[in-house]
Amino acid sequence: MTSSAQKPRFRKIQSFRTDYAPTDITQYESERSGMRVVVADRKGPKINGYFTLATEIFDDSGAPHTLEHLVFMGSKNYKYKGLLDKLAGRAYSNTNAWTAVDHTAYTLETAGWDGFAQILPIYLEHVILPNITDDACVTEVHHVDGEGNDAGVVYSEMQALQYSSTELMDLRARRLLYPENIGFRYETGGMMEALRVLTPERIRAFHRAMYHPQNLAIIIVGEADHESLLSILDEFEESIKDDVPLLNADFKRPFVESPQPPPLEKTTVETVEFPEEDESTGEIVVGFFGPSCNDQVQATALNIIMTYLCGSSVSVIENTIVEKEELASSVSWWWDSRPNSVIWFQPTGVATEKLDFVEQRLISLLKEVASKPLDMQYMMECIQRERRQIKFQAEGSEQFYSSNIITDYLFGKRDGSTLAELQTLDEYDVLESWNDGQWRDYLRKWISDAHHVSILGKPSMKLATGLKEAEEARLAKRREELGNEGLELLKEKVENAKKHNEKPIPPEVLDQWPVPKTTSIHFIESATARSGKARSLGTPQNAAQKVIDAAAPADFPLFIQFENVPTNFVHLTVHIGTSETPVKYKPLLPLFADNFFNSPVMVDGERIGFEDVVKRLEKDTVSYQISGAGRVGDNEGMTLQFQLEPEKYTTIIQWLRTLMFDLVFDPVRLKAAVVKALADIPEAKRDGRAMALEVDMAIHMLRESYPVAKRTLVKAVYLRRLKKLLEKEPETVVGWFEELRKSLFTFQNIRVLVTADVAKLPEPVSAWKTLNKGPGLDTSKDILPITRPVAMLNNEGKTPGSFGSVVIPMTTLDSSYSVSTAVGLKSYADPRLPAFLVALGYLEAVEGPLWNAVRGNGLAYGVFFTREVDAGYLQFRVYRSPDASKAIEASRNTVAKIAAGEEPLDRHLVEGAVSGIVLAAADEQATMAAAAQQNFIVGVVRGLEPEWNRKMLARVRDVTPDEIRAVMRDLILPVFEAGKSNVVVTCAPIMEENIVKALSTMGYKTQVQPLSHFYDDYGLQAGEDEDEDEDEDEDDEDDGSGGSDKDDSDEEMDG
Ligand SMILES: [Zn+2]
Repeated sequence: MTSSAQKPRFRKIQSFRTDYAPTDITQYESERSGMRVVVADRKGPKINGYFTLATEIFDDSGAPHTLEHLVFMGSKNYKYKGLLDKLAGRAYSNTNAWTAVDHTAYTLETAGWDGFAQILPIYLEHVILPNITDDACVTEVHHVDGEGNDAGVVYSEMQALQYSSTELMDLRARRLLYPENIGFRYETGGMMEALRVLTPERIRAFHRAMYHPQNLAIIIVGEADHESLLSILDEFEESIKDDVPLLNADFKRPFVESPQPPPLEKTTVETVEFPEEDESTGEIVVGFFGPSCNDQVQATALNIIMTYLCGSSVSVIENTIVEKEELASSVSWWWDSRPNSVIWFQPTGVATEKLDFVEQRLISLLKEVASKPLDMQYMMECIQRERRQIKFQAEGSEQFYSSNIITDYLFGKRDGSTLAELQTLDEYDVLESWNDGQWRDYLRKWISDAHHVSILGKPSMKLATGLKEAEEARLAKRREELGNEGLELLKEKVENAKKHNEKPIPPEVLDQWPVPKTTSIHFIESATARSGKARSLGTPQNAAQKVIDAAAPADFPLFIQFENVPTNFVHLTVHIGTSETPVKYKPLLPLFADNFFNSPVMVDGERIGFEDVVKRLEKDTVSYQISGAGRVGDNEGMTLQFQLEPEKYTTIIQWLRTLMFDLVFDPVRLKAAVVKALADIPEAKRDGRAMALEVDMAIHMLRESYPVAKRTLVKAVYLRRLKKLLEKEPETVVGWFEELRKSLFTFQNIRVLVTADVAKLPEPVSAWKTLNKGPGLDTSKDILPITRPVAMLNNEGKTPGSFGSVVIPMTTLDSSYSVSTAVGLKSYADPRLPAFLVALGYLEAVEGPLWNAVRGNGLAYGVFFTREVDAGYLQFRVYRSPDASKAIEASRNTVAKIAAGEEPLDRHLVEGAVSGIVLAAADEQATMAAAAQQNFIVGVVRGLEPEWNRKMLARVRDVTPDEIRAVMRDLILPVFEAGKSNVVVTCAPIMEENIVKALSTMGYKTQVQPLSHFYDDYGLQAGEDEDEDEDEDEDDEDDGSGGSDKDDSDEEMDG
């Protein structure tokens, strides 16, 4: 490096270690430009960068958001779209960005410092000196296509958003909170009508106004090399100094040096309609101005009081409005961190005719709470819990640092004094000393006695049709004005712009940067130790095993794997197998999970109500969850998870025993869970992606499989009948749950993972003795094997191809989704695995072959392969497509050409695919808890050798082009072949005919079926009034508007 003569011109403002987590925070400032740098050093393989600019604008033009997209289209010295992403892709990195109302942040996540250091200067040049061409604005921002439709990446993004209830209500609320001279008032994403007239010059002007180095903060969380960082930044400043002034004396800090919003002079309640065909339920937002985010005590008090009011089912607002009065399905809250913060309450699922009433009820309830003494014991528990959770987040999530540092950069003091407050959690000590009077004063001042803005969101069918008609009329008028000639010109314009944007990157350009070494990627070491039945998997030679051996009583049978990491917390995972659960009870499992932490229990012969159970669990844990065991690599099992402090270790194990064996199945709680689950079904059934997957499962998997049993297509029939049965014969249903519980909590089903600093645990093994006896815990039995995914395939699943294809028209869709299934790998030991992973990474790369063939040609929003390595199947999925059959065909042709060698493999993309596998491995092991869990997955669930991950990363590097082509030919191409694969398509009814024709032409046997064809009641018979049910059901299928991305795969209750 030539600049080594010049010492970096960065001044260190401060450096400190947080006293609640092992993190060092260092703050620098450039003496030349005023650019800010904040590094939060913490151990782990991942480096996360957030390059943040404060962006303030006083209109809805969308300049901030469009600029964020255009930055990725090339820069002064690198005039190629996709160059940054291609380079990042082979440097173990990913780029992304977001635009908020007050800032734009560009993110760079990388495994290891070397990759980060390589991409950083190139990325920063894109941010400060982007090459904003008119052509880039055409494709990325907005254009009118050859058919007269509005298009463009940002335009389409905002089109999907602008008429959502959330957006309409939020924007109206902000219009009421802020006058026109305040930036928080505006839609920085861009309103559609404004985007249609936004000019490239306006975007460039916004860039000139805001994107100075002096308005830029480089925020990094991870293991950074400070010397290297400062010299890169110094060189970067040197390289741009002729293009932008490094210091602009007139520059004012956005928001901080602008006028501040005046206080509200009155309360305003307004109704905002949103387009929705189902007019039954609406929602509410209520906003208050709160304290300054720079006042640590006041701001933390806000988190506490809101947790006290609506943190869980036992807090007063939730408990009254949701649980007791059943006026809303939830009341959520959040606050916007600003000099004048905004506090939001959001009751959702409110009956439309009760919107007014519920808003008033919320306010009157808040006043009621403030008028009487508070429950100070619960308040204290809220403070302690909040402090535990902050410590926990600081240890495990990089977002804790990034979001605090971004807020401080935007609004804090420039001398570093506000950032310095991150060093301690002293504000919690102050709040612990607040008395009832102080808390109620606070509550009255900011909330219950304060003016506010309330928006009642009312669904409107009329608005939905009106908007559709107005849009069609607008487009028809435009088409008429343009005429065929005008449209033809527009088509040409877009095609030209595309051509200019897609200039290929010469290989020698990319070759200027060597692929970084992996030596700077520091994976977290977690040492495994085993006790009881787990010892049969081997007992490692290490200090942790010695601790466990010394602590374990003789012949202690329970299967426990310990993972030793230097954490301040204990992460308990109890894995429960479901292989002994009778098939007929499997559809009950999601309800069982929903109720598990929300039911009464018996303790010493005394019944404890569910509210007390929740309160005690909150007091003894950081958080707790029950869910499917997919997160530990087993889709067929369940997991109970607790995060806690070491001193609560024994207490939680006692709790676990109580919940497992002394929980009371209360028909009232069960019915509430059934009603809630039923309410989610119509929305889930509108989701074309999820429904295609559910039908695919029905075709290829056994009904014993847990994911098969918990499908919406099962719930749709099963839950209605169960609800009736609960009314008529509650004891029968309770009896089923008892049976279900017995089948789950047996000794041979239980495997425990304890992640902790094992030396800190008082009795790491014998604390579990409570689980050695008890109903069903026959410790003489052998532990049951974890079900292999491949064992859940039915005959069609083992050799797909004879079913052919099925097309399912859905009135709620306006596009199509598909899932194609063929034979896949069955085992992690398959020698083709490394080449398989590289081939998939190659095909799916950003700006890679499938991206260009499918997304680039507008054939689908995306196409993906699944990576379940030992499931025995390979899936190819098309996501949101105007015609899924065309996307399938284009993908097949692309893969076939590469497999046959007609199209050579792009060396840089192969490097990118290998690097992507390394980044994915770093992602899986980014924190201590994740690294520990990975050991459990590798050793216990998958039965692989301890070094398996490391060896695999070495092997993917040696994959040859011939091996990649062989895998594409033998494993991947069959997923596109009739006779070797089956296809499920969900689509808008209008697409049915063409798709059926196309699939037949490809050689697939085809059939058309309604969704209800794939319902399964799991043997739960209908009562005599079933007819009525089926009618109700048909209605469901016809209502609704559009799909949703809701992932129904993992039901979960969080504490
Ligand atoms: Zn965007």
